[in-house]
Amino acid sequence: MRILFDRNWTDWLPILVWVIEHPEGIIVVDTGETARITEPGYLPSWHPFYRLAASFDVKPADEIGPQLRKLGISPEDVSTVIITHLHTDHAGGLHHFPRSRIFVADGEYRNALGLWGKLNGYLPHRWPKWFAPVPIPFVPAAVGGFARSFSVTTVGDVMVVPTPGHTPNHVSMIVKTGGLDYFLAGDTSYTERQLIERRSDGVSTKPKVTVATIGRICDYLSSTPTVYLPSHDPDSAVRLRDGQVTQTI
Ligand SMILES: [Zn+2]
Repeated sequence: MRILFDRNWTDWLPILVWVIEHPEGIIVVDTGETARITEPGYLPSWHPFYRLAASFDVKPADEIGPQLRKLGISPEDVSTVIITHLHTDHAGGLHHFPRSRIFVADGEYRNALGLWGKLNGYLPHRWPKWFAPVPIPFVPAAVGGFARSFSVTTVGDVMVVPTPGHTPNHVSMIVKTGGLDYFLAGDTSYTERQLIERRSDGVSTKPKVTVATIGRICDYLSSTPTVYLPSHDPDSAVRLRDGQVTQTI
C-alpha cells in the first residue's frame, strides 16, 4: 500500500543491464526498457502501479540495441540473453534479440502470461511475437548457499542461481573472474544498503522469502570477495568500474 500511496518520489533511478564478453560468446543479462514506454497507451492505465507508482524516462538511444552498438557490439552477436525476471524494465528490450538464445526461469514465464500476469504488472502483450524463451535448466549443483544452479558457460564461470523474492522465480547471476566475483542481482534488492540492512522491498508478496534470499546472498558475499550489482542502484556502475567489494555484516 505504501508503494501506491506514498507521494514522495525517489530521484531518477537507472535501469541497468549487463554485458559479459566471454570467449564462449557474448552474454547479456536483462534487456532494459523500451522508449515506447513513454508513448500514451503503452502502459495499462487501469493498473494502479503504473498509474501511481512508476514514471519512466527512456529515449530511443537509451535502449539496449543502440547502447550495445556504442560499445562496438552488434545485438546479432549476442549469443545468450538471461532475464532475471520479466518485469517491463528488464524485458522491454527483448525485441533487439530475435536471434539470441533467451533464458527465463520456467515459473517466471508462466506467471507473467495472460490476465494473471497483467494483474501482476507484467506486459506479456508487449513481448515480441517470436518470444519463446528457453526454461533455465537448473541442476542440483550447489553454489554457496544456493542449492540449484545453471552454468551458462562450459567452464562454469557464469552461473544462474535462483533468488526468489521480488518475484517468486527471480534469478541472479554469479560471474567468476580470477579472485573476484560479480553478483548480477536484478531486483533482489534495489540498493547495496537494502541488502546489508536485510530489508525486503515493497513489491515482494512474501517478504520472508526475500529476506531469506538476501541472507543467502550475504553469506555468499562474506565467503567470496564479490561486487554486488543490483539493477537500480545508482552506485552499481561505480562499484563495477572500481571492482568495489561489498562488505556484509
Ligand atoms: Zn526492475
